[in-house]
Amino acid sequence: RKGTAIITGASSGLGLATAKALAETGRWHVIMACRDYLKASLAAKNAGMEKGSYTIVHLDLASLDSVRQFVRNVRQLEMPVDVVVCNAAVYRPTAKEPSFTADGFEMSVGVNHLGHFLLARELLSDLTSSDYPSKRLIIVGSITGNTNTLAGNVPPKANLGDLRGLAAGLNGVGTSAMIDGGEFDGAKAYKDSKVCNMLTMQEFHRRHHEATGVTFASLYPGCIATTGLFREHVPLFRLLFPPFQKYVTKGYVSEEEAGKRLAQVVGDPSLTKSGVYWSWNKNSASFENQLSEEASDPEKARKVWELSEKLVGLA
Ligand code: NDP
Repeated sequence: RKGTAIITGASSGLGLATAKALAETGRWHVIMACRDYLKASLAAKNAGMEKGSYTIVHLDLASLDSVRQFVRNVRQLEMPVDVVVCNAAVYRPTAKEPSFTADGFEMSVGVNHLGHFLLARELLSDLTSSDYPSKRLIIVGSITGNTNTLAGNVPPKANLGDLRGLAAGLNGVGTSAMIDGGEFDGAKAYKDSKVCNMLTMQEFHRRHHEATGVTFASLYPGCIATTGLFREHVPLFRLLFPPFQKYVTKGYVSEEEAGKRLAQVVGDPSLTKSGVYWSWNKNSASFENQLSEEASDPEKARKVWELSEKLVGLA
């Protein structure tokens, strides 16, 4: 049978390219989990995806109620859940003030980490009961959260500190809009959220891989300088960033190529190892990459897991 893959944020950029790459193989049905139904359906059409190859289901990660409703809606489809890809993200580098999700969490960490954390926890039982030969939960990471890389050392650097802001509810009361309790910085909030994504993947692996057989993985697909992720950046940045990545850092990757990379992590029979953060070299060959000290700290992973559980109402 065909595999079924849920992809969050499949209405643009990496998520859309991955949905298209998977659908084109004829071996996958894609559930596009998107906050804007019309945008998603136009995106799928314009990408040339065949009608029967996907289903769009509404999901707004900035609302825990929406996440729970999404899970109910997916179960009503009576399709197996074989792979889940947590891909959607917001990046607010020029924001001066924090904005908040429906549940009152700072937006970047609220959407990128907490919304996905609840989604992944809820769907774990569905993944576990799937009879697909290789069931996978993938959380898209990033180099920018990894301070062991050049890109990860561009200030402001990711740093979760002692997690006091997360423990206080990440609700902007006092200085708790940031995980470390520091002053609000939109670019840092994004990087912190990506560290949480990578920590969550590893904690899932430690807690659930053996018992469920699910493969947990993260990846850095390369710098896809053309996606909507940079939509809130200043215009000059948006103009210069793609050529800079292409010719100076040489980290540039097209949306199509990045989509193929993520599609490998979804379905390639050689990428079944769990607990891995995948990257690709210049020749587009995948390899197991090293995470920074903070992004691979098991104690921090456990604490982020436990605090996140409380915030999303699982503990
Ligand atoms: P895009 O902005 O193109 O895509 C982000 C997607 O997330 C969009 O589909 C967007 O929906 C969706 N989204 C945003 N907020 C919500 C929400 N509240 N609920 C549901 N969906 C939401 O960016 P990319 O494709 O670049 O980013 C995809 C992933 O790749 C992210 O995890 C990012 O961190 C990661 N990444 C990107 C890199 C890059 O260079 N671009 C590098 C490394 C990692 P809508 O279309 O409605 O706005």
